[in-house]
Amino acid sequence: MANKEIPYKIYLEESELPSSWYNMRADMKNKPAPLLNPGTGQPMTAPELEGVFCSELVKQELDNDNAQIAIPQEILDFYKMYRPSPLVRAYFLEKQLDTPAKIYYKFEGNNTSGSHKLNSAIAQAYYAKKQGLKGVTTETGAGQWGTALSMACAFFGLDCKVYMVKVSYEQKPFRREVMRTYGASVTPSPSETTDVGKKILEAHPGTTGSLGCAISEAVEVAVKSEGYRYVLGSVLNQVLLHQSVIGLETKTALDKYGVHPDIIIGCAGGGSNLGGLIAPFMGQKLRGEADYRIIAVEPASCPSFTRGRFAYDFCDTGKVCPLAKMYTLGCDFIPAPNHAGGLRYHGMSTTLSQLYADGYMEATSVKQTDVFQAAEQFARVEGILPAPESSHAIRVAIDEALKCKETGEEKTIVFGLTGTGYFDMVAYERFHNNEMSDYVPTDEELAESFKSLPQIS
Ligand SMILES: *Cc1c(COP(=O)(O)O)cnc(C)c1O
Repeated sequence: MANKEIPYKIYLEESELPSSWYNMRADMKNKPAPLLNPGTGQPMTAPELEGVFCSELVKQELDNDNAQIAIPQEILDFYKMYRPSPLVRAYFLEKQLDTPAKIYYKFEGNNTSGSHKLNSAIAQAYYAKKQGLKGVTTETGAGQWGTALSMACAFFGLDCKVYMVKVSYEQKPFRREVMRTYGASVTPSPSETTDVGKKILEAHPGTTGSLGCAISEAVEVAVKSEGYRYVLGSVLNQVLLHQSVIGLETKTALDKYGVHPDIIIGCAGGGSNLGGLIAPFMGQKLRGEADYRIIAVEPASCPSFTRGRFAYDFCDTGKVCPLAKMYTLGCDFIPAPNHAGGLRYHGMSTTLSQLYADGYMEATSVKQTDVFQAAEQFARVEGILPAPESSHAIRVAIDEALKCKETGEEKTIVFGLTGTGYFDMVAYERFHNNEMSDYVPTDEELAESFKSLPQIS
C-alpha cells in the first residue's frame, strides 16, 4: 500500500463521505470547561442556551459523551454538491522547496462561499429550519461566514440577518453583495439598530468594529425577535463537530494510500477548521492509538494561544454572551487596524484550549508579511489563490518542510487550505505595494487588555 503512487489529487467517492461527525470531546479525559451564565457564574443549562441557540445545536454543544453523531440525510445531500473535497499532494511546492518532506493540503475553497464555513452553516440552517424558525442572526468578520450562512439559509428558505464588522463592510463591498444575492440583509457593526451597538458607538465613536461587537448585536436581535435564533461560525463545540467532516475525509484519503502524517497544521481564528481537520487524528492520540504533531498557527497581531491567558472570558465585547474558558486576549482586544490577515477573534475554542493546555497540541504565531509571502509563493506554484487566513498554515508548512531539507527527514506534512482569497485583494495589494507592516502587540498592551477579564476562580 505505502508504495502506491500518490496522485496529485486524492478524490473520494460520494459514498465515502462520513455518515457521522466525530465528537473529540467524547475521548477527552479533561472535558472543555462549561459555558457559564455571566449573571450567576453557574454552568449554562440547556433551557438557558435555547433562548439564544437552536435546540438541537444546544444538545450538540453540551454533548461531551457521544463520539459519533449521525449526519442527517438532508445535510449529507447538500454536502454532495461540493464534497468530498480534494486532498492535494503539493508536488510542485515540494519541488520548489527542494525538500524531502511530503506535503498535502486539504482544500476547502471549492464552493461559492470560498471556505470551510459552509460545512457548519448548512448544518446550523438545517436544525433552525427543522425547529420551525423564521430565521437566524449572526456576525461576520471578513465575510466568509456570512456568505456561507446566506447560502445555507437560501437553501432552506430561512431569513438571515448578518452583522458585518464595519471595516470589512467598507473594505469588502463584493462580499456584502454576494450575501445579498443569497437573500441576507447585511448591517455594518456597530450599528444604531441595537442597544448594545448604540452603547459601543457612544463609548468609541468612529470605531471600525470588531467581531466581539458584531456578536453582541446579532445576539441581541436574535433574543428580541420572535422565531429567530443566533448562530455562530466558529469557536463553539457544535461548529468543531460539524467541521470534523474535513478531518474524517482527510483520514479516509490518507488511509487509502497508507500515508501516516507526522505533522498536521492549521490556522486558528476561533479554532473550527483546525478542530475539524485534526478531529479523527486527535481522537487516535487521545485514545493512545497513534501520535501526531499538531500545530495551530495564529497571527502575531492576535496571538490568543501563544500569548493569551487560559481563563473564563466573555465571548463578545458587549458582554451579553456566556463566559467561556479559553485562551483569550481579553474581550476588548481589537487587533491593530493594519492587520489584514483575518483570524481576528480575541478568544479560542474551549475544546482546543483544553487540548492545548493539556499538551496535546502546539501553537505558533506568524507575522502577516511572512504570511503573504508564503501565500504568493504557494499561489505561483500550486495555482490556488489562498485566503490570508489559510496562508498562516501555508507559512508554517513551508517552514517545516524547509527544516526537513536541513535535516534530510522525509516527514509527511498535512495542512488545511481553508479557502480562497479572491475577496482579499486589498490586503494583497498592500502587500505588493510594500504598504503592509507587522504590528505585534506589546506586553503592556496585552496586560491592559487582560484587565477586562472577569474575576472567576
Ligand atoms: C473563518 C476562516 C478561518 C478561521 O476560522 P476558524 O474557525 O479558526 O477555522 C480560516 N480560514 C478561512 C478561509 C476562513 O474563512
